[in-house]
Amino acid sequence: DGGGNVRVVVRVRAFLQREIEKATRCLIDMDPITQLTTLRAPEIGGGAAPGKQKSRKVIDDKQFTFDNSFWSHDVGDAHYAHQEDVYNSLGEEFLDHNFEGYHTCIFAYGQTGSGKSYTMMGTPEQPGLIPRTCEDLFERIEAAQNEDSNVAYNVRVSYFEVYNEHVRDLLVPMVPSAAPHYLKIRESPTEGPYVKDLTEVPVRNINEIMRYMKLGDSSRTTASTKMNDTSSRSHAVFTIMLRQIHHDMETDETTERSSRIRLVDLAGSERAKSTEATGARLREGSNINKSLTTLGRVIAALADPKQLRSGKRKDVVPYRDSILTWLLKDSLGGNSKTAMIACIAPSDYEETLSTLRYADQAKRIRTRAVVNQD
Ligand code: ADP
Ligand code: MG
Repeated sequence: DGGGNVRVVVRVRAFLQREIEKATRCLIDMDPITQLTTLRAPEIGGGAAPGKQKSRKVIDDKQFTFDNSFWSHDVGDAHYAHQEDVYNSLGEEFLDHNFEGYHTCIFAYGQTGSGKSYTMMGTPEQPGLIPRTCEDLFERIEAAQNEDSNVAYNVRVSYFEVYNEHVRDLLVPMVPSAAPHYLKIRESPTEGPYVKDLTEVPVRNINEIMRYMKLGDSSRTTASTKMNDTSSRSHAVFTIMLRQIHHDMETDETTERSSRIRLVDLAGSERAKSTEATGARLREGSNINKSLTTLGRVIAALADPKQLRSGKRKDVVPYRDSILTWLLKDSLGGNSKTAMIACIAPSDYEETLSTLRYADQAKRIRTRAVVNQD
């Protein structure tokens, strides 16, 4: 049985230089043994003790337990989670599942600046989950082919972003003067929702896949610079399609397994707070991200035990209310092994609490992954 709960892990990003200079206080505590994450109440102005603020919101310590907690503070702590550690404790296992024939999805959630892109893509010096997955994938393929000549592999890749409820192909070079080209979504009874005419390129080795990864990533960055930081408002979806073809010499039979590896860098979660929006935020209404708000509703619906029991969740989960949730339908409540990485900044109480609550809800979601053979 491949079904199981969505894996939920939390990662606190390291202090940035300017935070170190300001001697910013860290509000996060992670216990490496119990995986207990504590969000401490900030000291309220004037040195008042934590407690009730004027708004009557209770500001106090909050505790959560996730499947894994990645600590990133360089304070001589032996539990510091490097990019490599995050890959080893999550990415590697998910790639195992892909070779077994399961679809997987790992998505990073969190406010802008909390380390989502660092975790998924990383930097040239500190590569994240996406480049590490690509590298490991081709290492495994090479090793397997050296061992057994009756197995063949076929790898294809696509990369798109969802911005303002439009899908943009990141593997098509942007023409600076041309209007942006948006793609449509279709739903097939067998394959589920997909992006029509999305570029899907075959890749034969690590160099080729890395080239497309970088192409798409720079296309995302270029658009972001041109259009006033869309990267904090857009969702980037990197997909690897793996096909394993095994030929049995004795029976002369060919069996095939296909799996989809989805790696998603979501828009900044601060864009989802339509109901809490006040004053300035309300006026920039376009900042509210429909896909992100809907993702919240989808997660809430999937996590609701009443709906889980009724077995009617297909009817009540609002997947089709937004582009992102429609496309991720399978990854969220369907045929996929799924993980959420809740990325948090070390010193933002409100946003971090909202992310941790969101993540806590996601823990209750169960998917129904099956091996995709023949
Ligand atoms: P997001 O994509 O969520 O907006 P980024 O990934 O761009 O956030 O991270 C914001 C900044 O913090 C970047 O400069 C990034 O390099 C840095 N950063 C994020 N996570 C870590 C980490 N775990 N360790 C060190 N630096 C990090
Ligand atoms: Mg980012």
